[in-house]
Amino acid sequence: MERTKCLIIGSGPAGFTAAIYASRANLAPILYEGIEPGGQLTTTTEIENFPGYPEGITGTAMMADLKKQAQRFGADVRFGIVTAIDFDVRPFVVTIDGEKQIEADSLIVATGASAKYLGLESEAKFRGMGVSACATCDGFFYRKQDVAVVGGGDTACEEATYLASICRQVYLIVRKPFLRASKAMQERVFNTPNIKVMFEYNTVEVLGDEDGVTGARLRHTSGEETTIDIMGFFLAIGHHPNTELFKGKLELDEEGYIKTIPGTSKTNIEGVFAAGDVKDPHYRQAITAAGSGCIAALDCERYLLSK
Ligand code: NDP
Repeated sequence: MERTKCLIIGSGPAGFTAAIYASRANLAPILYEGIEPGGQLTTTTEIENFPGYPEGITGTAMMADLKKQAQRFGADVRFGIVTAIDFDVRPFVVTIDGEKQIEADSLIVATGASAKYLGLESEAKFRGMGVSACATCDGFFYRKQDVAVVGGGDTACEEATYLASICRQVYLIVRKPFLRASKAMQERVFNTPNIKVMFEYNTVEVLGDEDGVTGARLRHTSGEETTIDIMGFFLAIGHHPNTELFKGKLELDEEGYIKTIPGTSKTNIEGVFAAGDVKDPHYRQAITAAGSGCIAALDCERYLLSK
């Protein structure tokens, strides 16, 4: 069976930064990219707050650069999904795509987080037919149409602003009487004439026909109901960590995020390290994920040296 000193799961800023550090430390890491190569940043537009890019950079360009940088130092970046891990043996045995197995002396888990949905039956019915959790991926299909974005955080504001640049009218549906987003983002939203912020509204039903979404039925906290005509319904209500694979093995918090020893990337299993959004319910920034990928690689290197 193939064996590696360091196997990295995930290809966001955390995974690739861990790969850059681990390969420069001669650990010859193998990185499996997972379901969404490049991670969540590939579904965002401009990144303006990553230090070192005074003019900003697109998420896809940044991820392509991070991948190239990791490969330049010898990281073996592979397309594939980790489907099982045997944590009870040493080295760990990792199964890829349900068939190939590989032994790993250490693991860096950087599987990130995924978009949340409201959980409505009608929302599931029209997923991919007008319902989307990624405005930058799918916004183009709704050019000059009316759309809605659900959420009041930075993601919702960013997506609403982006959609406003290509769509006719954007409804921002916010369940509270205020936005949770940063002041700068809020200002951008309030200064965009074709965004209508609908405070204190919840979605009751996504409406549609055989061609896809046609509207949404909303309920105000007062009980009053209203219907908006839209063709796109975008969710931006946060994320959940991708930790299904680790349940019952790695210690998780009540929301499912991997717990690490404070100030380190160490999990409850020796030789397994966690980095990025999969362990961070608070900051969730590209730069903090990259920083935590660096920490994981350094912790991993020290662990391997001590063995
Ligand atoms: P957040 O958790 O910050 O916001 C989620 C939003 O969705 C909240 O307004 C929340 O409402 C709302 N929401 C949650 N569940 C529901 C529901 N069932 N129905 C209706 N509304 C719901 O997530 P984000 O993805 O916006 O941001 C995550 C992190 O990433 C944040 O730290 C953010 O600052 C950061 N970020 C930074 C960016 C940047 O700096 N460029 C860009 C994007 C994100 P409520 O307020 O009522 O809880």
